[in-house]
Amino acid sequence: MKINKELLKSITVLYVEDEDFIKEEVLFFCKRFIPNFFTAKNGVEGIKLFNEIEADVIITDIQMPEMNGIEMIKNINGDVPIIITTAYSDIEFFLQAIELNVNKFIIKPIDLRELLFEIQECVSNYRLKDRLYEKENLLKIIDENVLLSITNKEGVIIEVSHSFCDFVGYTREELVGSTHRILRHEDTPESFYENLWNEIKKGKVFKTEIRNRKKSGEVYWANLTITPVFNEDGEIDNYTAIRQDITNKKNLEKLAIKDELTNLYNRRYFNTTIEKQLRRAKREETYLSLAIIDIDFFKNYNDTYGHPNGDKALLKVATVLKNRASRASDYAFRMGGEEFCLLFTGSNQKESLEYINSVVKDIESLEIEHKSSDCSDYLTISAGLVVLSYDNLIDAKDFYKYADDALYESKKMGKNQTILSQKSKN
Ligand code: GH3
Ligand code: MG
Ligand code: MG
Repeated sequence: MKINKELLKSITVLYVEDEDFIKEEVLFFCKRFIPNFFTAKNGVEGIKLFNEIEADVIITDIQMPEMNGIEMIKNINGDVPIIITTAYSDIEFFLQAIELNVNKFIIKPIDLRELLFEIQECVSNYRLKDRLYEKENLLKIIDENVLLSITNKEGVIIEVSHSFCDFVGYTREELVGSTHRILRHEDTPESFYENLWNEIKKGKVFKTEIRNRKKSGEVYWANLTITPVFNEDGEIDNYTAIRQDITNKKNLEKLAIKDELTNLYNRRYFNTTIEKQLRRAKREETYLSLAIIDIDFFKNYNDTYGHPNGDKALLKVATVLKNRASRASDYAFRMGGEEFCLLFTGSNQKESLEYINSVVKDIESLEIEHKSSDCSDYLTISAGLVVLSYDNLIDAKDFYKYADDALYESKKMGKNQTILSQKSKN
């Protein structure tokens, strides 16, 4: 196909894109051929400009602030050819766009010459004579690039994309006829699925992060979106599920906030969490409690049983702390070495002290032999606790210091116990 310079000179084009860099690049290229090439940075601006310039073609990005491309197209009056530029991450909108009167999809990064040809084709009334062909093309793109599955109302898989099969390692035959439980990760609680079904049965779009297993056993994380599809009577016919692989992102996140040996949160995460929890306790008018915990005579333990056994003991302590910090607002951290923190809300001084006392008991009850301890036959911990009510909260540094001073007291008074900071206030 050749560039028709005369034609391009005579038309008006509206280009809507929120990313300045892309917008400028396309504008710079197209303006040479199409003098009446106008740009807008979101759907709202796009509609306004469209009404002023009466564009012959609209080119638009999908994901944009204020108003996205799909909404804009729905709000455009008049029959005008539309070209959508899209990235695969826009896939949800992409699926919606199939339903709209869109003439052409161009996958980002944009090939500028291709764009020019498409504009030309649209206006020279070539206008996809055969939309079906375009749809088929789209379906092919989806099949090859989107992790897509469709289930019936009962959750039985009735359709899967090629790329989904490739990704999870099951064949189409293995997936169709079974349910998504084939991918279930054993740690996903039953309540997760109950909640999911509750939402999608109501006809709502459901989005969540989910952990699954491939056929090989490999774990993956996905950003999952389940959309109900309705029949003509407005009843749910089936459910379309698309997902994006976010395993790398999840692993990175985990590395950044978790301690490798114990899998507890690390000190860095403590520093951000304590600030957040201080704010939250104030807002929700509740108590905030912090216990700093340190293993007793741990140097002796290492010296007696060896460092590898020391690691094992650390892990056992960490597991108890993790299990005891079971509410959504409880946090267990490994601050480094053999020092830990428990941070929790909603308990007054008495309750907090009882709770930490019972944690201290739990550790001794593990009955990890510790011959070189002067305070018990078993491995023990000491804790320093501070509890403040919302109207007495102070900054994170002082808060930490009060608990640390109390821990020091606890060590001085013979270890294997909790000392409540004098600075605690109900
Ligand atoms: P105290 O009762 O006063 O707390 O005495 P302690 O011996 O526990 O305290 P100290 O701070 O003197 O020693 C802490 C020891 O913890 C020193 C170090 O060998 C050990 N430790 C720190 N991190 C690790 C770890 O990751 N693994 C193992 N096995 N030991 C660790
Ligand atoms: Mg110690
Ligand atoms: Mg220590």
